Amino acid sequence: MNETYDKIIIGAGAAGLMAAYSSCIGNKGSADSQRILLLERKDVVGKKITATGNGKCNYTNSVQNKECYRSSEPDKAFRIIKSYDHEHIIKMFQCLGVLPRERNGYFYPYGEQAKSIRDVLKNAVVNKGAVIRTEKYVTDIDRSNDKYTVTCADRTKYTAKKIIIAAGGCAAPVFGTDGSIFCILKKLGLKIINPRPALCGLKTDYRYLKNIDGVRLKCKCSLYSKNIKNIIFSEEGEIIFSKNGISGIPVMNLSRFAVNEMDKNNKCGLILDLFPDMDELQLEGILALTATANGGPVSTALSAVVNDKLLKILIRESGMDTEEHADRFDKVKRKEVFGKLAKLLKNFTVSITGDTGFENAQTTQGGVDLNEINEETMECKKIPGMYLAGEVLDVDGMCGGYNLQWAWSTGFISGRNSL
Ligand SMILES: Cc1cc2nc3c(=O)[nH]c(=O)nc-3n(C[C@H](O)[C@H](O)[C@H](O)COP(=O)(O)OP(=O)(O)OC[C@H]3O[C@@H](n4cnc5c(N)ncnc54)[C@H](O)[C@@H]3O)c2cc1C
Repeated sequence: MNETYDKIIIGAGAAGLMAAYSSCIGNKGSADSQRILLLERKDVVGKKITATGNGKCNYTNSVQNKECYRSSEPDKAFRIIKSYDHEHIIKMFQCLGVLPRERNGYFYPYGEQAKSIRDVLKNAVVNKGAVIRTEKYVTDIDRSNDKYTVTCADRTKYTAKKIIIAAGGCAAPVFGTDGSIFCILKKLGLKIINPRPALCGLKTDYRYLKNIDGVRLKCKCSLYSKNIKNIIFSEEGEIIFSKNGISGIPVMNLSRFAVNEMDKNNKCGLILDLFPDMDELQLEGILALTATANGGPVSTALSAVVNDKLLKILIRESGMDTEEHADRFDKVKRKEVFGKLAKLLKNFTVSITGDTGFENAQTTQGGVDLNEINEETMECKKIPGMYLAGEVLDVDGMCGGYNLQWAWSTGFISGRNSL
């Protein structure tokens, strides 16, 4: 026999737990309270939350602007964020006992343990009387007679008048998000914008990659497409080379654009400027002065300026012998050698051959088209009584707490408006 509730929430991640919390703020856990059921596929709720921010949970950010949220409908996405913004979230978590710790606008729980964010939400909803069922993999949703019947893989069925879809996207499937919800939503008639990885690493076939495996570089990282003059996105920060590619915050932030360009079969790559604060001529002068003052072979004379492993490759690429001594160069050679090296250090270019996939992505670009929902309530325009929240929607945030902010904002709005 079907169990009946007032509301069913599918997915007990960030958006689902927040939707449950805002649904039952007025509940006292008594018999006349709203009967709310959370169905979660994994054995515990909010598994992904506990892995966020390297286990510290960067749960929001005080810098908020439209560019932090990427979508086919960016204006709509940002209006939704503003209607329940980071200030509400910080206060709300404070009311639940989360003291914030702020670093350059990034917010973490003071104790820097991501599980504390998951636990306060879980405790709040349980105390308010919501029912949580784990290991419930929703495989079908049926709507008839203004009621929703949800079927799980173990053949259990649940019925309610209202339903909130908070099952996330396809990123990091190890936390329960395999993207199967999109098939169910498509069947119900919703428009899905092709889900693809975002906030992921990128692969490159740079021929000296194994020589610089593990090297970290602070630089300005620019993505080009089709030709090196066509720059699509640039950001400064630290990048990291691995055996098969490049990662780091700037790379993650531009990865969604690289994924899109590769989908269109456009050749793309990264231009790394290791000295963004000076021009080529200034850099040439500094390199020449430093190497000459040091007096050792060029391969080590610039250690204080450039990473040794990278330097060896660039010296080779610029046609120099690594054992040459700069203090023995004549004027013409000095100009030629350090001019070439400065050019390479300001335009270190690697082509991109792929992305590291959903397995290694922190979020999903694409998802349910925002035009399918009423932005004030998160209710589906075509399917009354069905609400959507979180990563399942076509919005992906930059690194810095924006994806969780999107999950909190949409979770809260959907819960409050589906009473
Ligand atoms: C390693 C990592 C680090 C991150 N760090 C940060 C960070 O510091 N700051 C930040 O803002 N963002 C971060 N993110 C992104 C952020 O965690 C997500 O965008 C956010 O959790 C999305 O919330 P959600 O509730 O929509 O989806 P999820 O949190 O993914 O929750 C969806 C839930 O639905 C369940 N589910 C899925 N399908 C079904 C089904 N068919 N039946 C039942 N249950 C189902 C899943 O098991 C899951 O528990 C990080 C992501 C990763 C992977």
